Amino acid sequence: MKLTSLFLALAGTLAAAQAASAAEVKLWRLDCGTIKIKDLNSFSDTYQYTGKQRTLTDSCYVIQHEKEYMIWDTGLPAGLLKAPLDESAPMQPTLAATIPQQLEQIGLKPEAISIVGISHYHFDHIGQAADFPKAKLLMGRADLDAMKSDPLPFAAVPDLLKPWLQDGGAVEPVSGDKDVFGDGSVTMLTMPGHTPGSYALLVKLAKTGPVLLSGDIVHFEEQLKNDGVPPFNTDRAQSLASMDRLARMAKALKAILVVQHDADDIRKLPTFPRAAE
Ligand SMILES: [Zn+2]
Repeated sequence: MKLTSLFLALAGTLAAAQAASAAEVKLWRLDCGTIKIKDLNSFSDTYQYTGKQRTLTDSCYVIQHEKEYMIWDTGLPAGLLKAPLDESAPMQPTLAATIPQQLEQIGLKPEAISIVGISHYHFDHIGQAADFPKAKLLMGRADLDAMKSDPLPFAAVPDLLKPWLQDGGAVEPVSGDKDVFGDGSVTMLTMPGHTPGSYALLVKLAKTGPVLLSGDIVHFEEQLKNDGVPPFNTDRAQSLASMDRLARMAKALKAILVVQHDADDIRKLPTFPRAAE
């Protein structure tokens, strides 16, 4: 065989291998609640948002990887379904529909979810995790450790993770970045600071391109511009470093950055029940 034809044969094999590894990946955005914030300075320790209010969305996501389904964050607890807003409270959470109700619209039962990925331990991200008790829990090791501490950190509710923390469900504590399916299509990205084990998620889609789901590295886009660090974050310096990583990565990958709590970012993904592909 001549060298050129050998090269062509090798190139063909390589292309076939790459095509074989390009798994079918889909991404749905679910509505997992809203939270009205009375004083937006509760999201800036330098008073960037004096006099401002804001309604945050609480989103969660379903990712299909070939025949497997993963959920990323599980929103507010179902106990807040149709909860009336308490205008006197600094943060007013409510939920319009549960995750199982929304999964039904795309023909999925909760048992179809085999992986629950959690960005961090706050109650508005682990609220409905216990609806998927047989799934494997992927979560930052530092956050899992913090949930065993006494006193508990701010807004951490271990009971919401009872299937794994108390009943022996499968848990994989994550340190560093984590390639979830082993083919680079879905990656948990370590971005500590909001909590000790906070994560964002990178999802690579064939048509849409890369999508970065922010976790709570920021809660709305403006925080990236003026370094809005919530006073309840566990580490200010780590928070700024993680915000820097998130913004730089979005730019370098030309990724769609979806800030999970930013209602303006809802439009960046197709409206449920349509999926991004
Ligand atoms: Zn949150």
